Amino acid sequence: MLEYFQASSYKTADFHFYLNLYFTHNVCILCGQVHKLRFHGYVRRLVRSNETYTNRPILICVIICLSAKLAGKQYTKRMLPPFVTPECNICLDNALQMYRAMPDGQIDYDKASRLLGTICTKTMRRHYLMVVVFTETAVSLMAKYLALTAPFVPQPENPPYEELFMLFVSMMQAVCDSEVKRSGKHHDLPPQAMFLHPIYVFKKSRTPWSGEKPLNLSSVIRLYFDTS
Ligand SMILES: [Zn+2]
Repeated sequence: MLEYFQASSYKTADFHFYLNLYFTHNVCILCGQVHKLRFHGYVRRLVRSNETYTNRPILICVIICLSAKLAGKQYTKRMLPPFVTPECNICLDNALQMYRAMPDGQIDYDKASRLLGTICTKTMRRHYLMVVVFTETAVSLMAKYLALTAPFVPQPENPPYEELFMLFVSMMQAVCDSEVKRSGKHHDLPPQAMFLHPIYVFKKSRTPWSGEKPLNLSSVIRLYFDTS
């Protein structure tokens, strides 16, 4: 189901299916209304392979919204799969894997090179810092989400507050536990990239979303747990 979370297993058709599902429940990011998603076409995008250290092409879906066009607003948008970072070839899932492998802030450049598919230490540092910043944002959004939706969810017994990555993982577990309690159904822990990607996209987007946040963490969480 979640192959589109990794560049190595990404298939355009799977992601297309995911977007159709997503936008049956959430507002169009171009007009702000819920309506059937309309695809405009595909564009080529290069992503870095950490096996070959070279870029390889994938296809990105472009959506079009006729209501936004009629209103004279931006009416097409490229929909980046969860592993693609805006204006960068290095994959988010690989950057997250680097952070997971060295959460104490000490970058092992040999290992980071193999995970990201680059030999540039500046690129490694930049991506490490970016993942940390977006993890901090995700943690605060998840805390807010839990406070609003499940204020009485039990806290971890020994919260690993000293290490951000562990806090991030335990917050995800708390969100998952609260959804299990709410729905009465079993859920596996979602991929970690799912909690960082919306923040990544909307903070780094060339035209940041300024109105309501249709791809905020709350709607992403709801989508993941929606089994309808
Ligand atoms: Zn629309």
